[in-house]
Amino acid sequence: MFEKILIANRGEIALRVIRAAKEMGIETVAVHSTADSDAMHVRMADEAICIGPPTSNKSYLSIPAIISACEITGAQAIHPGYGFLSENSKFVQIIEDHDLKFIGPTAEHIRIMGDKITAKETMRKLGVPCVPGSPGEVDSLELAYEIAEKIGYPIIIKATAGGGGRGMKVATSKSEMSDAFITARSEANSNFGNPAVYLEKYLGTPRHIEIQVFGDGAGNAVYLGERDCSLQRRHQKVFEEAPGPTINNEVRQNIGKVCAEAVASINYAGAGTIEFLYENNEFYFIEMNTRLQVEHPITEAIYGVDLVKEQIRIAAGLPMQLIQENLKVSGHAIEVRINAEKLPNFSPCPGKITQFHAPGGLGVRLDSAIYDGYVIPPYYDSLIAKLIVHAEDRPAALSRLKRALGELIVDGVDTTIPLFNSLLNNEDIIKGNYNIHWLENWLDKS
Ligand code: ADP
Repeated sequence: MFEKILIANRGEIALRVIRAAKEMGIETVAVHSTADSDAMHVRMADEAICIGPPTSNKSYLSIPAIISACEITGAQAIHPGYGFLSENSKFVQIIEDHDLKFIGPTAEHIRIMGDKITAKETMRKLGVPCVPGSPGEVDSLELAYEIAEKIGYPIIIKATAGGGGRGMKVATSKSEMSDAFITARSEANSNFGNPAVYLEKYLGTPRHIEIQVFGDGAGNAVYLGERDCSLQRRHQKVFEEAPGPTINNEVRQNIGKVCAEAVASINYAGAGTIEFLYENNEFYFIEMNTRLQVEHPITEAIYGVDLVKEQIRIAAGLPMQLIQENLKVSGHAIEVRINAEKLPNFSPCPGKITQFHAPGGLGVRLDSAIYDGYVIPPYYDSLIAKLIVHAEDRPAALSRLKRALGELIVDGVDTTIPLFNSLLNNEDIIKGNYNIHWLENWLDKS
């Protein structure tokens, strides 16, 4: 096992990894920008190294700075968290070249899944059902017209290098294709440095269902059920639950097996998430994330496992402790993402937290790096806390969430807490009756 690991991230996810490492008796190294000198991950780690100025490009995304921090502190492995360098295959290659360990899959697997066209092609070959779409890149408007005619409108145009819910345009009819196609390509180029786009059938009322998988890198893999992440704003998840309200045991096992077999056959190592749109009882693969997801705690809650510890174990070359027959769903879990944002426009709201009180009690978990007097810097993501509840069934989880939200106090900055208070009184949410468009429609109306 490693003696010391470095966490190449900040905020709640850095704390999450530090906590797992501490329980395993592993020393931790935090890295931070000058804007994060007072951050909680810096205080909680055994050692901390400043790696640059506030701009992410010069700190959390600086590969030379992170590798140097490893060399200075003697850390043997790097956990990337999510975001930042977590899906950067070049970073992983450089780590391997320095005889360090990346806590995650191989550079090759990250590369394959990071390009959405290659990912789809790979998954199709492995027997995973995909959204009908173009066989590869669509590089001219003529080809876009031709393929759209075959698939049928509405069509979604997606950047092959896309991520974070950005780089997607919808054309509901032929007359909208030209504008949508040209904008999608130019936005893909400016956002991701790659203009390549592809076409997919735009599904009208799907749910976003994702399957958690875990591989040992030696041809064995398990699935840990699904998460329903359909409540999204601008293609970004805000509320997630597991199990999915519309998924029964048989459906879970069928899609779970397909996913576990697919990743086992490529010798995938570590945690991964295979994302699907789910409509009329059919699954359509959209992408695979080769890292820990923000919403992983709801899976941990219903399966009673620690995914981060398992990631560390696999990276250290130990056998996988997750065994499919032992993985049984227990109860229901919900996560809400609390952002420092001002409603109704969700504009970022950095600043000083003047009062903070965390909820507690049975089945309540708050993953957060904020504290009384903490100043949220304006440079990074606005996620300040994830509130996760676990209870015996969905109605009990909803009541627990309401109760826990009532205890949570974050003063000094605006947050998205009021959004969740309203959602919990909504009949559709109470019944689990929503799809990926529900939240935007509801926000437009309210
Ligand atoms: P990203 O990598 O940017 O998160 P995804 O491919 O995972 O992009 O898609 C993000 C979200 O965009 C999905 O959860 C869904 O809400 C929407 N979306 C993606 N593909 C389609 C599609 N074919 N039809 C309808 N909505 C889609």
